[in-house]
Amino acid sequence: MVILKHIWDSVINFIFPQQCCICKNFLGESGYLCISCASKFDVISEPKCACCGYPFEFKLKSKNKKLLCPNCIKKPYKFDGAISAVRYDDFAKKIILPFKHGDKTQYAKPISTIMIMAGRKFKDEIDVIIPVPIHLTRMLKRKYNQASLLSTYISKAYQKPVLYSTLLRSKSTPSQGHMSEKERKQNVSGVFVVKKNQRIKGKNILLIDDVFTTGATVNECTKILKKSGANKVFVLTFARVIK
Ligand SMILES: [Zn+2]
Ligand SMILES: [Zn+2]
Repeated sequence: MVILKHIWDSVINFIFPQQCCICKNFLGESGYLCISCASKFDVISEPKCACCGYPFEFKLKSKNKKLLCPNCIKKPYKFDGAISAVRYDDFAKKIILPFKHGDKTQYAKPISTIMIMAGRKFKDEIDVIIPVPIHLTRMLKRKYNQASLLSTYISKAYQKPVLYSTLLRSKSTPSQGHMSEKERKQNVSGVFVVKKNQRIKGKNILLIDDVFTTGATVNECTKILKKSGANKVFVLTFARVIK
């Protein structure tokens, strides 16, 4: 069966050669990103904040891996760690915006592949994966939740189950695109609910989203998850807004 599938994939690829989802060049083999585009993402690497993953712009002499950024010292997030794979720059937008707003659900595969590599240190620490939910009205309009699509691939790679309907967004809120940090916090305050909290009691959770902007959304999700009995909450996103 594996051989048959391989032959079938080759036939499909011959008839419909796969294109790179960013530069649209045809790819020699199956995949969604050419090597040139894949290397253009601005990967977030060490040194970075031990809590929120904010990258430090200077080399650290200290071997202390637990250094926190000024924001996390002033007002720590409720989650126990966060990793974003790449910076949310104009290049990253070329894959995120069509994925999020342009029905390009097939981009979940290349995006999640990069996330799986970036977040691998969470793999052994977590019990379940939870996507950041969108409200039903947005779901009906967009027809899919991008965080759920990413979670499905990450679940396969990490061999951990996804809880798709445990964390829900109970209120429809305006899009946060142009909101300040304070407005974002108010916008998401109290909008999430947990259904069947026995599923998360004592569990370590990996929260999945596409973009980490101020962290207000994932922080609010963490609050309700911990209030409902979760042990630890980690956050994995594809991109991060760095100011
Ligand atoms: Zn390309
Ligand atoms: Zn931080």
